[in-house]
Amino acid sequence: MSSSTPSLFGAEPAVPLTAAGFALVAVELAVDHAPDGLTYLIPPALAGLPEGARVLVPLGRGNKPTAGWIVRKSTDLAELGTLGFDATKLKHLLAQDESEAVLPGELLALARWISGYYACPIGMTLAGILPSAVRKQVGRVTRVFYELATLAADAPMPKLTKRQREALDCIRAMELPAEQAAVLAATGLSSAATLKRLVELGVLLASKRTTVEAEWSMSAVGSVHEVEPTATQHAVVDAIAQTLGTFTQHLLFGVTGSGKTEVYIRLIQRCLARGKKALLLVPEIALTPQTAGRIVARFPHSRVAILHSGLTASQRNLMWSLAAEGAADVIVGARSAVFAPVPDGTLGLVIVDEEHETGYKQDSAPRYHGRDCAIRRAQLAQCPIVLGSATPSLESWWNATVRKSSTLHRLPERAPGLRVPKVTVVDFASERRQFRDRKVHLIGPMLHRCMQETLDAKGQVLLLLNRRGYANYIACADQRCGWTAQCTECDAGMICHQDRIASLQWVRCHHCQAEQQLPKICPQCGKSVTVFGLGTQRVEEELLSLLPMLEEGKSLVRVDGDTMQTAKHFHDCLARFASGEIRVLMGTQMIAKGLDFPNVRLVGVISADTALSMPDFRASERTFQLVSQVSGRCGRGGDAGRAIVQTFFPDNTAIRLAAAHDFETFANTELEDRRAFGLPPARRLARLTLKDASESKAHADAEQLTREIQAIAAQGNAGAEVRGPQAARIARVNGSYRFEIELQHETAAEISRILAAARSHGLLQLGEHLAVDVDPVS
Ligand code: ADP
Ligand code: ZN
Ligand code: ZN
Repeated sequence: MSSSTPSLFGAEPAVPLTAAGFALVAVELAVDHAPDGLTYLIPPALAGLPEGARVLVPLGRGNKPTAGWIVRKSTDLAELGTLGFDATKLKHLLAQDESEAVLPGELLALARWISGYYACPIGMTLAGILPSAVRKQVGRVTRVFYELATLAADAPMPKLTKRQREALDCIRAMELPAEQAAVLAATGLSSAATLKRLVELGVLLASKRTTVEAEWSMSAVGSVHEVEPTATQHAVVDAIAQTLGTFTQHLLFGVTGSGKTEVYIRLIQRCLARGKKALLLVPEIALTPQTAGRIVARFPHSRVAILHSGLTASQRNLMWSLAAEGAADVIVGARSAVFAPVPDGTLGLVIVDEEHETGYKQDSAPRYHGRDCAIRRAQLAQCPIVLGSATPSLESWWNATVRKSSTLHRLPERAPGLRVPKVTVVDFASERRQFRDRKVHLIGPMLHRCMQETLDAKGQVLLLLNRRGYANYIACADQRCGWTAQCTECDAGMICHQDRIASLQWVRCHHCQAEQQLPKICPQCGKSVTVFGLGTQRVEEELLSLLPMLEEGKSLVRVDGDTMQTAKHFHDCLARFASGEIRVLMGTQMIAKGLDFPNVRLVGVISADTALSMPDFRASERTFQLVSQVSGRCGRGGDAGRAIVQTFFPDNTAIRLAAAHDFETFANTELEDRRAFGLPPARRLARLTLKDASESKAHADAEQLTREIQAIAAQGNAGAEVRGPQAARIARVNGSYRFEIELQHETAAEISRILAAARSHGLLQLGEHLAVDVDPVS
């Protein structure tokens, strides 16, 4: 350990050894400082700091105070000698950091696992666990409280001034202990100086209390009534609840509308009844308002902490402190809620709703998968984990049906009162031939007719289009010219957005967010410029002309990343949809998931093909998920729902099986294919991406790294494949060229071994030049 960090020792003059022990500290840098951190002495004043505490340590020759985490602590200084350290040459910890954050042991252990599995330095991993609102202690208030001191029987009452005596009389009449502001108001004093003097004289006692203060409100959207579980729901709850108190894995495969949330609620009740806490992960803010609202409503007497991206910094800090104090019984949140700091030994149940969602994957280091971390968290807490979905990821399906590491529970039928939606696949190519004009049409006659009927019958409609912007790309009208608008920083086309000011049109790059004004004429040949493809704005225009009734009262609303800047916007929009004010809700994937509105009688998928055109082995899986999830949004009231799916590939297996509600056939066939082609989940994958502003440097570095990784893989003799380097699909993003190396093996263990060896050789310094993605999702 000492050999890899020589510069840190020996620079200091020898200090007399006054230490209460030593600590291994993982500093918050993207550097692998030995596997577990750097060694520091603990000054006696900091002897009480536990493992998991965030501290400041002197780093490097300049002793720059740097934040880090105590990952191991020992009071046995003699151990230093056996570890090969000269204790007189070690530096001391400086202080506990201002946040006073202390991670429970289970989280520390989770961070260690993430650091190893996702090849991310432990300090950087720990830094990623602590929300910045907690780091900065936003909303923390320290208040001073006063009460009367009991004087010793023989002690004389100190001499007091008139002002002091009057103040003391006032305080005696108050309910104590009382907060400083209240005391000042009651006594009429203008500052706390007199109170401080009374404390010095021994007549008053002062104490400080620190709390996080934030406004907190959580309203419920949608149905919240208590329901009687069906026999199937009951059986599933019983089977899983029997395993409370042990680590067991469960896959809850329940069709959309089968009442999975009800199963979660019953399980949470059982968990709370055992005096334990429950953690429920939901994929993203889009789902949080409804699911969280239902949980809040159903646990009126328990404390439910909700973590989502719409929180203010002080609310976030408050939620964290409630969880850390053990004051929250149920914690609901997106991906990062897997790091909720519930006290060790108190977590009794972990649930991951819509476990197939890609939103669980973090796309910056540490590139962890929230679902997989949740499984590990449950294992550390020795409690059951439940993964729920109508379209389980093939990874989870593999675990349940092939590896049998988890138990499969089925909810094959919709909840009482819900009907299975009838899904109609529309061959859009043949529909388009019915149009006489030469315009681009996105809403075919079938979808148009169904919308009209649904609206006439006072039903509501969800329309899905999974692309943002007005159009996909901008090109010269003259095909022979071939000019297209390209981002100057990326190898990607610009996407057109119509600004609110109609005269101004902007184009934006979806990779780097750069914006340019849309050229009026082709810069290459001077002819006109046109926009091609599908886009939510364009569909909106077409709808308004087809169904003029939607113009009234703004009953058509578009939700996508452009219009929904905050979670609150989206939440408000859902509330207006729930109230019936909005008749047609149209948008991107945000509306495909988890929404439960009884009056939605029609779901339209403008194009099911956008996912299919992606060069990704998960394209079929994504298409299946999209079609089943979105069609599952209807038929939740008394009426049977209907889904219209427009596609140019009506015979595509994923689309056909999704329309037939046949997940199992789809999953089993797809798994066969994955196995045959050596793809996940049959094999495990890690991707290393090298980035540089110079294309040749990026390429040369990637070749060098490939050789080094190949050499490490060869030592294993276990048949790991190292492929590459190859240019990334979008070879240049934000001005830097990207080359990828792919590492493949049957087992996660071998991938981990290779990455760990590469790290120990210093080959994987994460940062702007290198990213490592274990189990990439796209
Ligand atoms: P899922 O999450 O599986 O798509 P939900 O949990 O959203 O399904 O349930 C769909 C609807 O069915 C909800 O409105 C819910 O209140 C209702 N529901 C669930 N279980 C029952 C039940 N046992 N009896 C009656 N209604 C139920
Ligand atoms: Zn760009
Ligand atoms: Zn041109």
